Amino acid sequence: MSLLDIHVLGSPALRETTEPVAAVTDELRRLIDDMLETMYAAKGIGLAAPQVGRRERITVVDVDESPIALVNPEIVLSEGKIRGEEGCLSMPEIYGDVDRAARVVVRGLDRDGRPLEVEGTELLSRCLQHEIDHLHGRLFIDYLSVLKRRSAIAKWEKERAKYPSLRRTISPKELAEQHNEEAL
Ligand code: ZN
Repeated sequence: MSLLDIHVLGSPALRETTEPVAAVTDELRRLIDDMLETMYAAKGIGLAAPQVGRRERITVVDVDESPIALVNPEIVLSEGKIRGEEGCLSMPEIYGDVDRAARVVVRGLDRDGRPLEVEGTELLSRCLQHEIDHLHGRLFIDYLSVLKRRSAIAKWEKERAKYPSLRRTISPKELAEQHNEEAL
């Protein structure tokens, strides 16, 4: 397995929509494994293919030490509303409150290409919605009010200077650090 570079805000990859996967091949299973490894290394709880510069409709999440890989995920039911703070591995240090459905049911395929249904409430619900948004070029800052989005982007303009290539490489230093914030 290997760590992948994470694209940060400004990289066009984050605004592209993904293509449904026709068959889960060994190559895509390797991608899933690399995405999980990268997500854990970055202390994240979710990572979507566009964040590592890929166009396949694939995401991985893990909110409670149970990794879930979802291929071609679709939200088939959403209900209720919860508000909570979100961050994103593609926007380090940027956080904002976002309204999400309180409960979602997602259908897709697992890493072996078998049908998979995942029900999420609370953090898992939020995480699934955030990651599926990534697969359609949407980011959590899109949901912020104009003023809050403006201040998030102003803060990002300073952070962004750390990523001249618009890629974030997880360094051994970052790997060693303990983060308490959850990022998706
Ligand atoms: Zn994200």
